[in-house]
Amino acid sequence: MIVTDTHTHLYSDAFDEDRKGMMARAIEANVTRFFIPAIDSTYTKAMLQLEADFPDHVYLMTGLHPTSVKENYKAELNHVEDQLSQRKFIAIGEIGIDLYWDKSTLQIQKDAFKHQIRLAKQYQLPIVIHCRDAFDEIFEVLETEKSEDLFGIFHCFTGDLEQAKRAISFNMKLGIGGVVTFKNGGIDKFLNQIDLRHIVLETDSPYLAPTPFRGKRNESAYIINVLEKVSELYGLSEEKIAEITTENSKAIFKV
Ligand SMILES: [Zn+2]
Repeated sequence: MIVTDTHTHLYSDAFDEDRKGMMARAIEANVTRFFIPAIDSTYTKAMLQLEADFPDHVYLMTGLHPTSVKENYKAELNHVEDQLSQRKFIAIGEIGIDLYWDKSTLQIQKDAFKHQIRLAKQYQLPIVIHCRDAFDEIFEVLETEKSEDLFGIFHCFTGDLEQAKRAISFNMKLGIGGVVTFKNGGIDKFLNQIDLRHIVLETDSPYLAPTPFRGKRNESAYIINVLEKVSELYGLSEEKIAEITTENSKAIFKV
């Protein structure tokens, strides 16, 4: 069995004390493919180091996270463009809109999101979307930017069935993580109405640990708890779910 974690911040300083052990635990649990979303330029060095340390397992994205869209966002977008011109990345992410932490930056968040969608099209890369309290705003941008060559993942999907269908209509797969294991998470109520070809698994480590680790530091090995829950919801073996979601991740990231 091969399990793919499509969204994990393994370079986070939350793992500085035991990164090697944490990676070994994941690989021991058959979690061997890790897709690493960017946040902003302050993490670039740590991401490149992570890749140098685990070259057979990690795949880097580049991008500017919506909560890092501040006054200097144009310089940050230049950094993303620089990176793209220098070497291979597997996606532009995470990008999007977050109105939970700061509503005052909505306009520049939208601008940064659109700009990065266009970069993704230019480089023929998938996007990885971060959406918090901002479904309408995200869909509004996707509506204006949608095209055959725009595709990717709606990371940490927490919407309802209608929003799930809408996200899929924009060529997005749904990133399912710890929230599916939460008692009042909501998505467990309808997830099995969504065809598995639209689903990928993720942890968003070190955030959003699944039950029974809820509230603790998350790590990629805990994706097995997400896999267990998704397998239960669809009535299919964990091996089958791992196989389908890994195939889906290959279709998106081309690796
Ligand atoms: Zn993330």
